[in-house]
Amino acid sequence: MTAISTRDNRPPDIVFVIFWFAIGFAPCSSAQVELEGFCANLPRPAYSAFEKHHTSNEWFEVYEVEPNIWAIYEPFQWQEVISYLIVGTDSALLFDTGNGLGDIRAIVDQLTKKPVTVLNSHSHFDHIGGNYQFDNIVSVSTAFSLANSRGIQNEMVTTEASSEALCKALPSGVTQGSHQIKPYTITRKISEGDVIDLGDRKLEILHISGHTDDSIALLDAEAGFLWTGDSFYEGPIWLYFPETDLAAYRKSIARLAALAPQLNALFPAHNTPKAVPALLLGAQQAFDLVLEGKAEPVPMWEGVVTFQFDGFGFLMREDNTQL
Ligand SMILES: [Zn+2]
Repeated sequence: MTAISTRDNRPPDIVFVIFWFAIGFAPCSSAQVELEGFCANLPRPAYSAFEKHHTSNEWFEVYEVEPNIWAIYEPFQWQEVISYLIVGTDSALLFDTGNGLGDIRAIVDQLTKKPVTVLNSHSHFDHIGGNYQFDNIVSVSTAFSLANSRGIQNEMVTTEASSEALCKALPSGVTQGSHQIKPYTITRKISEGDVIDLGDRKLEILHISGHTDDSIALLDAEAGFLWTGDSFYEGPIWLYFPETDLAAYRKSIARLAALAPQLNALFPAHNTPKAVPALLLGAQQAFDLVLEGKAEPVPMWEGVVTFQFDGFGFLMREDNTQL
C-alpha cells in the first residue's frame, strides 16, 4: 500500500521521474527540479478562492469553504489530503484525520468546542492517521476497516514521511523511521442510510464501495453538498490497489453522478477542496469508456497505467482495466 506518486494531474513522465526518484533508483538533478516545482505550486491556486484561517499549527492549512465547514489541508505532503470539520449547532463531525504527521486534534480544538465525532471516508492510511487522537469514532464495519483500525506499521507508510514526499520538514517529534498509523477504537458502527445529526445540519451516509469496500460519501441533501472521499477528486483517482473493486466502483460513481443535478458542491478528499458536481457525470461517462476499452491508457510505471480526462483521471493496473 506504499504510495508512489502524488495525487497530482501532472504529465505522466513527471510522475514517473518522481516515482523513480522516490524509491531511490534515479536521484538525478532533473527529478529534484521537478519535485521542487511541484512544491513551489502549493497550495494550489484553487485555494485563493477561500479565506485562510490562521492557526498556530504550521503543518496544516485551514480554509473556510462554506460557513462552518473547514477544509483542513496538508499541502506539504504529496498526498495533499483534505480532511473536513463540519460544525453544527449541537456537535461537530471530523470527516477524515489525515496522515497522522501533524497534530490535527490541536486544529480541531481551535476551531470548535463542541463534541466531535470522527468519521472516515475510508480507511486508507492517509485518511485515518489522526484517529488515535479522538475517542468518538464511528465507522462502517468491513474486514478492511477493522484491519486498518489496528494500525499500520512503519514499513508500510515510511515513504509517506520521506524527504521525497515532503515539501517542508516534518513536525517536531515525527521522523521517517517512527511514522506509523496508530491503532484506534471504533466506538460505534454505522451503515448505509444512517444520518448524523449535528443540530442544524444532517449528514446521510452513502456506502459507495469500490475504491475500497469501506468507502462512503456524506450527503447534506438540504444544502446540496456531497463529500466524495477518494471516490472522486480532481486528479488521478487511484484504482490500482488490490482492495479496489472496479465493478463496485462503476456502480458507485454512477450513483454519485445521479445525484449531481441536486448538488451545489463537492468536497473531495485530495488536492482541491470544492469541485463542481457536473464533474461526477463526466467521471461516470469516462469510467464507462475505460471499461469498454475505448480510452487510451498511458503507461505510468511497471504494471500501472493512467487514463486522463479533463479535470480527473483513473490510475489502474494494466492487467485490470476491464470487467
Ligand atoms: Zn484511498
